[in-house]
Amino acid sequence: MTAPLKSNPAALNVDTAEIAKFEAVAARWWEPGGAFQALHDINPLRLAYIRQRTDLSRGRVLDVGCGGGILTEALAREGAAVTGIDLGAAALEAARAHQQISGVPVRYRRIAVETMAAEKPGAYDTVVCMELLEHVPDPAAIVTACARLVRTGGNVFFATLNRTPAAYLLAIVMAEMVLRIVPGGTHQYRRFIRPRDLRTWARHAGLDAGAFHGMLYLPVVRKAFIIRNTAVNYLAHFKCR
Ligand code: SAH
Repeated sequence: MTAPLKSNPAALNVDTAEIAKFEAVAARWWEPGGAFQALHDINPLRLAYIRQRTDLSRGRVLDVGCGGGILTEALAREGAAVTGIDLGAAALEAARAHQQISGVPVRYRRIAVETMAAEKPGAYDTVVCMELLEHVPDPAAIVTACARLVRTGGNVFFATLNRTPAAYLLAIVMAEMVLRIVPGGTHQYRRFIRPRDLRTWARHAGLDAGAFHGMLYLPVVRKAFIIRNTAVNYLAHFKCR
């Protein structure tokens, strides 16, 4: 058994109920048509987004809240030395199990990003943190830790959900209740994050003003597109000042 999260002082910025939701379906991280199909569907787009903005053929990359390693493995396939961290033991188990099959070299660790930031400040060329901020009690602290982990001039990428009525309708009502492409209860509206708040937290953490892009996911064709409108899903790219 893995140590309980409480043994880690920096893990206070954790909602154990949030972790438990993902842990409950952890065996399905790589299952076609499974609980995480939407993450698989949006993965090529987010990889392309990151690849357009940073050199992934070398350097060190940290994937924060990596889950079962969907994006982590894709980043490592580009050539970078990738580490994936998460607090879900079963998620990391799924990631490692998949790595046995894929053979993609990724280092996985169960550690809080705040602890990692104290351990290795400035150690990464690129830090990515996708679909995590909307699941934690203090997202600003995650942003600060990510900023601390990246070197000066390095890149930090986030993906999350905006707090708008449109996001409530599409991400919760449509995705969870009507189409059921995302497990019910995955998202809580009050945790969604306005781009201007993310920008403020990033600035305070020593990042630049950032670039924000909307992401439109069409479940019927299982594809995602970059759009201007950031009202629902969005990606953000910051540079470390
Ligand atoms: N980033 C991955 C997985 C997103 S799902 C992707 O986009 O493909 C959200 C993940 O965040 C889950 O694996 C969950 O275990 C993890 N998580 C939730 N709260 C966390 C926290 N406080 N610290 C680290 N990981 C957390």
